[in-house]
Amino acid sequence: MEKDLKNNTRSELSVIITSFKQKTYFADYLFAFIHQKHTADLNKISPIPKPFRAQLAETGYYISALSILKTQTDSDGTTKYLFGLPDGQCIETVRLVDEGRITLCLSTQVGCRMGCRFCATGRLQFQRNLTAAEIVDQIYQIEQAQGPVQNLVYMGMGEPLDNFNQVIRSLEILHDEQGRYFGMRHITLSTCGLTEPIRKLANLKIHPRLAVSIHAADDLLRSQLMPICRKEPLERLMQTLVYYQQRTGRRITIEYCMIDGLNDTPELAGRLALLLSGLKTNVNLIELNDYSGCPYRPSPGSRIKNFAARLKEAGIDTAIRFKRGRSINAACGQLGAEWLSTAKIQEPA
Ligand code: SF4
Repeated sequence: MEKDLKNNTRSELSVIITSFKQKTYFADYLFAFIHQKHTADLNKISPIPKPFRAQLAETGYYISALSILKTQTDSDGTTKYLFGLPDGQCIETVRLVDEGRITLCLSTQVGCRMGCRFCATGRLQFQRNLTAAEIVDQIYQIEQAQGPVQNLVYMGMGEPLDNFNQVIRSLEILHDEQGRYFGMRHITLSTCGLTEPIRKLANLKIHPRLAVSIHAADDLLRSQLMPICRKEPLERLMQTLVYYQQRTGRRITIEYCMIDGLNDTPELAGRLALLLSGLKTNVNLIELNDYSGCPYRPSPGSRIKNFAARLKEAGIDTAIRFKRGRSINAACGQLGAEWLSTAKIQEPA
């Protein structure tokens, strides 16, 4: 069991409590104080007898908390948070406002192993996975600073399915009605297309919405942009997405970053439509968010509109996503961009 009590599901807390031969319902108190009241001090969990609280602390149990090191706000209302982790590492989290609804873009790793060419995080050297406690605490800290949020997207720093166990644990914690409950329809998990974890996810009881980054409809071009495509070819990915859809009944979001002169022609839109023909999807076209040192440029607006029109003609539900948080490097693919001049950089795969 985890010594960080925030990193345990409610049933795992019961096991800890039972190991001390205490009343199992204390697990409910602990869970509610940590995940509803955001208590980070064992001493403040007053329904639990003081001697037992002391016993927990003496045996090394504690409740972790992230610290907010910096916030930056764009004129469009987007706020980027820089969080300090207990071991001195940092992550970024973004709070987006859209027609009064608040969405948080959560990080799941420090750095990322996937190395997508258009993404600033992908250039940073991978340091480590976040714990479930570090994932959920991004929400709790921001809610305490700026009020409740409605939607969560696991699209910040890192590839969520490369940190499968902690990400699933965080979903279990967030979906518990005795904690900070989020319905699975309000949570989107984004992946660059790791097929084995997608299958594992399909076989679980809880199913968040799934967003898959495609960015090109053929393996050759996609491998240039996303090195993972050399290990996970599109054919296998598509078969896996069909499986996910059969198991869950969920429509799948396809993310497609529009890059000038590379993947944005009407012909490539036709190929994408063909690739997606066996799936229920909605496609998000994202104008590339470049950063200093990025080798690519965003497609012009007219080409994005033509690409969208071609997909719609083919019957594919398509939306164009506008840039958010650009002035503070908080847009998709820009997290960590401000550290590139000083951080350790990974060599392109
Ligand atoms: S786009 Fe996502 S998976 Fe790819 S390098 Fe960036 S954070 Fe990692």
